[in-house]
Formats: sequence, structure tokens, C-alpha cells
Amino acid sequence: MLIEHSESLRSLLDIITSHLRDGEHQTIIRLRMGAFENISRERSIDWYAEAAGAACDTIRGNYQQDIMLYDEKLHEQELYNERLIADVDEAIEKRQFRVFYQPKYEIQGERPRLVSAEALIRWQHPELGFVSPGAFIPLFEANGLILKLDNYVWEEAARQIHEWKEQYGIDLHISVNVSRKDLFEPNLTDRLLSIIEKHGVTIEDLYLEVTESAYSQDTSQMVKAVEKLRNAGFRIEMDDFGSGYSSLNMLCVMPIDALKIDMKFVRNIVATSTGYRMVELVVEMARALKVPAIVEGVEDEEQYQLIRKVGCDIVQGYYFSRPVDAENFEKLIQREAELQRDSQ
Ligand code: C2E
Ligand code: CA
Ligand code: CA
Repeated sequence: MLIEHSESLRSLLDIITSHLRDGEHQTIIRLRMGAFENISRERSIDWYAEAAGAACDTIRGNYQQDIMLYDEKLHEQELYNERLIADVDEAIEKRQFRVFYQPKYEIQGERPRLVSAEALIRWQHPELGFVSPGAFIPLFEANGLILKLDNYVWEEAARQIHEWKEQYGIDLHISVNVSRKDLFEPNLTDRLLSIIEKHGVTIEDLYLEVTESAYSQDTSQMVKAVEKLRNAGFRIEMDDFGSGYSSLNMLCVMPIDALKIDMKFVRNIVATSTGYRMVELVVEMARALKVPAIVEGVEDEEQYQLIRKVGCDIVQGYYFSRPVDAENFEKLIQREAELQRDSQ
């Protein structure tokens, strides 16, 4: 409803709500209201209505708040988001997006061994500076641009791994993120296969991280999409396990190749014995599935020692390295190669 009003917003909302409850039906209707106060003639009524609607959208699903005013901050956020969206194509073209790599180490042997890396996107915007993926990934997931961006990351990662294999003769794979939205793309498997072929790498070189929350909506479609990828030969890592509404049942029907335990578990492992026990259980779950347990977000020695003790197989986190650019990742590869040579 678009309403011009003179009452306070609260009483207006109460009046409408009470009318809705007048009927003989017992249905409870919850209303949300967004408002733009003090409109002038500077802009069209459509613009104000849209602004009020945008304010309203910010409290969707929020049960504590039912009225939201449009304000400058929201306006700035919207302009910022619009800017990011408008700039994507140019950013790809001018190579403002870069792929960083965060190493993953196998930790149950004599010494931590570099076995893989996760490819993470970075955006260095010429005017806005560094834009965090947390700011643009959800935005691009919402409007469909994510596929284009992920495609770029997949290509870049494949190209890079080929180069490193040629140069260092190493056995190392890279995991790329596959957004929930990408799974809706009917040609996804073919796209990925053609990237593999184009860059002369094998299907074992490029692992796919699919976030757990991907499975919680449109379950059967997601499972089908992931199955198709897996049947084609791709390795699937379930990302952020335990963070969302994970369906344990899903683990039975959904074939995966690694369980990536969410960072929050690491925070708790030090804090409480229950926290420790929880990780232990998840690791056991990975054992039952016969897949490695990967833990991300390990930041210090204490966490690392506990993670090792509890039996996690692979670790990724600031304790070992932050995500670094290709040049710096190469140094990690070189160091690993030296260590391997020394131990032979
Ligand atoms: P994610 O897939 O769970 O990636 C792990 C995030 O944790 C990364 O944040 C990484 O920098 C951060 N991290 C790693 N170790 C630690 C640690 O020890 N402590 C803490 N506090 N953080 C750590 P980043 O790079 O900011 O990415 C955030 C999210 O954005 C990613 O979460 C992923 O969901 C998404 N993302 C990043 N790159 C891509 C991409 O190329 N495609 C898609 N679809 N999503 C991406
Ligand atoms: Ca990931
Ligand atoms: Ca994750």
C-alpha cells in the first residue's frame, strides 16, 4: 500500500492491523512499513515510493521491528551497491578483480604439508578502494551477476594451476567457490568442463566448494545439480558445514568429497569442552562419510593444537597464512618443494 498520512506511523500501522483482524477469520497478519518522511517536490512520487519500499525491505524477516524509515545511510548504501553493479563489467575487463589463494595444510603427519588452496576473489576498485567480497558477493548473488564473476575466478584458477604444475611439477589442487546461484545454471557442468579443457588441467585439479546453505533451499534441484557435477568427475567440498540449517539427512543422500567445518566451531573449541566435543563429533561424521575433515579459520597456536588433537585432517586459516596473491603463494609452493626435497 502506498499511503499519504498525517497520523504517526505507529498509529497508522496499528489502525490498519486492527482492521485486518476485524474479520471472523483468525488469521494473523503481520505488516511491515517503510516510510519516507517529509517528501519534497524534488523527485517523483515513484522515487519516494521506491525509497520507502527499500526501507521496508531491510526489515523483512525481522520480528523485532515493523517500521523502518528511509534515511541517508540507506540511500548511500543503495548508491554504493548500484555503483558496484554498474562497474562490474569494466572491472573484469580492466582486471580489477584478482584471485587470491589461501593455503590448506594437511596436519596429521610429521609436519604440516601444503596440499591445496582456496581461490578467493579480491576487488581493488580504482576509486572505492578495496571492496570486501562480503560486500559484493551477496549483492551479485541477488542479481545474477555472480555467475559471470565466478566464471572469471574459475578460469583464472585453472590457468594458474596449469602454470604452477608446469613450473614446479607439484601435486596441488585448488578449490573454487561455487555459489548457490551458479547451481541453477543448466550448463554449469559443461562450462566447468570446458574451462578444464581450455587450460589443460585435469578434473582433479579443480575442487568445488559448495556452501552448506545451498542445500537448504530447493533441495532436490540443488542435489541434482551437485550430483551432475560429481558424476562428471568433480570433487565437491561441503563448505561452512554446521553454520546454517544443515540437514544431516542431506549428508546421506548427497555425495561429497570433503566436509569443511565452519569457522564458528573453531572459536568454541578453545572456549568450552562442549565446543571441543562438537568438533570431535563432526570429525567423526566425516570419518563415517569417509571424507577428510577440513577446518577453516584457525588463527593461533592454541586452536591449531586442539584442531590437530581432535583429528581434523586439513587446516586453513590465518595461523598458517592469510589469502595471498599468486606471487606470494608461489613462495609457499617453493618452500614446500624445498621441505619435500630435504626430507628425501
Ligand atoms: P568462505 O568461502 O567461507 O571463505 C573463507 C573466508 O574466511 C575468506 O573470507 C577468508 O579470507 C576467511 N578466513 C580464512 N582464514 C581465516 C581466519 O583464520 N580467520 C578469519 N576471521 N577469517 C579467515 P573472504 O575472502 O572475505 O570471503 C568471504 C566469503 O565470500 C567467502 O567465504 C565466500 O563465501 C565468498 N567468496 C569469496 N570469493 C568468492 C568467489 O570467488 N566466488 C564466490 N561465489 N564466493 C566467494
Ligand atoms: Ca569457500
Ligand atoms: Ca567457508
